[in-house]
Amino acid sequence: MLKIDSHTHILPRIMPNWAEKFGYGGFIQLEVSRPGFANMMRDDVFFREIASNCWDAEERIDEYGKAGVQVQVISTIPVMFSYWAKSQDAADLARFLNAHIAEIVRDHPKHYIGLCSVPMQDPELAIDVLEEACNQGHRGVQIGSNVNGLNLGDSRFFSFYEACQRLNMSLFIHPWDMMGKNEMERYWLPWLVGMPAETSRAACSMIFSGVLDKFPDLRILFSHAGGSFLPTIGRIKHGHACRPDLVAVDNPTPPDHYLGKFWVDSITHDPRLLRYILEMQGADRICMGTDYPFPLGDLEFGQFMEGMDLNEAALKQLFAGSTLSWLGLELSAFE
Ligand SMILES: [Zn+2]
Repeated sequence: MLKIDSHTHILPRIMPNWAEKFGYGGFIQLEVSRPGFANMMRDDVFFREIASNCWDAEERIDEYGKAGVQVQVISTIPVMFSYWAKSQDAADLARFLNAHIAEIVRDHPKHYIGLCSVPMQDPELAIDVLEEACNQGHRGVQIGSNVNGLNLGDSRFFSFYEACQRLNMSLFIHPWDMMGKNEMERYWLPWLVGMPAETSRAACSMIFSGVLDKFPDLRILFSHAGGSFLPTIGRIKHGHACRPDLVAVDNPTPPDHYLGKFWVDSITHDPRLLRYILEMQGADRICMGTDYPFPLGDLEFGQFMEGMDLNEAALKQLFAGSTLSWLGLELSAFE
């Protein structure tokens, strides 16, 4: 059975010195820590240590091969988005990352599918970078769950969504810049509480503002099984019904109408939650994903789904079919 991982991250081992190039700090650089490892540093502040499987395309293919997974959808690490930077600089940075991913896809077309990055702080420039990336062979674009505090339902982003739809570029929404992060640093709460909330924030904002109706051919995947959106859809639907004056101001359609109209990945870490998401979304809207190579991901490559007594047709959808349909690709491209 073909297996595709819809949610993985990659970074070039060698990057320009962004602070030197742009004349101000705040960007992520890599510093060698020990053989086979590097520290992600923001100026002098340590962010995270990564290993060679974060940049070595061949090593990744080997590791995936051992787990029976052939294809990886690769996107940058969200900390690289740099939405806070000057937009031309963020565009330069995105172009560098996009060229790196495009090269990996060109060298290994049966093993990699590329998602680009764009400077969302400047939607018109983001469209330029998106068009270039589309011409380089990227199949979609990864964006953050908010852009410097602006919600994704903001009309300033509509021209960008229109361009994604026109260029057949799928959208991958990844939580970043977590709400409340300054108040909850202890216990890794931005990752455990903030990230699922961010994804729900993105989904609610896009649905309530009517993005899914205005751009019906836009194919959206929400990370981490949609975060807290699907588990709290009952509350969200009830809120829409009982306080339409607050919630239904731009879109009268109840939010549960949109279930199954977008994609989510399978990163739940719990078969009970996946069963529930299956009921909400259907197997053809759930893509096996891992968040590889990071420890909070499902580094067993969706193995838990195989022990869930699902029929073969459902498993085929979960492991490959849903990702192919999200990205508008055919199975034959990987045979
Ligand atoms: Zn991720």
